[in-house]
Amino acid sequence: MQVIADLQIHSKYSRAVSPKMNLTEISQWATKKGINLMATGDWTHPLWFREIKENLKETSEGIYSLVGNGHARSLQETKFLLSTEISSIYSQGDKVRRVHNLIFSPSIRVCEKVINELKKQGANLIADGRPIVGISSKDLLQMVLEINEKILFIPAHIWTPWFSVFGSKSGFDSLEECFGELSDNIYAVETGLSSDPIMNWQIKELEARSIVSFSDAHSGPKLGREATVFVENNQETITNNQITYEDIAKAIKQDSSGRLKIGYTIEFFPEEGKYHWTGHRSCNIRYNALETKKNGVICPVCGKPLTVGVENRVLDLSYKNISQEELVFIQNNVDLTFVYDQEKKRPPFVSMVPLLEILLETNDGSPTKAQNEYERLMNWTNEFELLLKKPYQEIEKQGGETLMTAIKTVRERKVFVDPGYDGVFGKVKIFKETPKGSPASQQSLF
Ligand SMILES: [Zn+2]
Ligand SMILES: [Zn+2]
Repeated sequence: MQVIADLQIHSKYSRAVSPKMNLTEISQWATKKGINLMATGDWTHPLWFREIKENLKETSEGIYSLVGNGHARSLQETKFLLSTEISSIYSQGDKVRRVHNLIFSPSIRVCEKVINELKKQGANLIADGRPIVGISSKDLLQMVLEINEKILFIPAHIWTPWFSVFGSKSGFDSLEECFGELSDNIYAVETGLSSDPIMNWQIKELEARSIVSFSDAHSGPKLGREATVFVENNQETITNNQITYEDIAKAIKQDSSGRLKIGYTIEFFPEEGKYHWTGHRSCNIRYNALETKKNGVICPVCGKPLTVGVENRVLDLSYKNISQEELVFIQNNVDLTFVYDQEKKRPPFVSMVPLLEILLETNDGSPTKAQNEYERLMNWTNEFELLLKKPYQEIEKQGGETLMTAIKTVRERKVFVDPGYDGVFGKVKIFKETPKGSPASQQSLF
């Protein structure tokens, strides 16, 4: 048994989100992608919270799914956990801080209490599904734990320059600096698209903490672009229908008495994230880590500070460097490559490219052809099943030789990525090497 979970997304009530993002749409895409457990997202928003209460029923403790009326049975199989994101903007130590944090709630009742307390403190919850509050991260953490100690509080996309706990522009240099004596209550961090676990393994403070990955999707097709996979922790077998909030919470807290643990995470190649390298997109300046060290962080074109990428930020905060030789790469029976730390102390990860991106490349860059092919393949199986599990023979039979070769290349980590910077997404190339390119699996290691 495994639970593929995507516990950070946004609803149509958040800014820059597809107007289609309602609970039915999310369930439909989760089914297509092969995701078992989804975030509801945005439960602090009054209208979205009403939709949650009207359309979801609790199927096991703290886990919900669509109610029967009018919804196909397959959609009811998508489970939901009450997860939301809050943006704290405040001053601390003469600096403006902007930090996004995820809050997982064990029940609707607990959500209501948090919502009431936020309102009492003057938060405007109707303006955005991801509300902006003037409450510091630390005070917010204290507030929710006082309401209910089962709440999980997870700093989101921790390396993005503008809105995260370690962000180069408005974050902190440590969890301790941000959360003070409450930092022990931070059991996990969410890596975001621009970093992978290797980068996070180099940070002392993260040694004992869980590393989770979610999509932060703003539309259905982006669901599961990163995900966390939970597996059984001991002999006890449980089915997807029996999973509770507590199972997920204990896995994230690394509580060995729990029925689940984190098996592995599914990651972007971090170069594909939009803040991997340092630069200015409007000035056409883009530096890798070494170039940034050499050239500094002032833009030679406009003279303003560059947006320092995640790669450099990690270098600044890390206490050790992990080289390629220190990693352990293990391929399973379908060539899927799991990347482990040297001692294999931590859950491994796999790096994936979304199927639609792969199909774009195998269909000469034609979005229409790629889309049609995607829909055709999704009549056969779901996306994660195809990317992570299907044997090559079957892929060749259903999708052709080129697709088979492309999937093999991704599973073996042999893709090339042109790194993203200053808000520009990186570009994956499966078949041809770009002049600047070198294999992503080597490039991410400084
Ligand atoms: Zn965010
Ligand atoms: Zn510039």
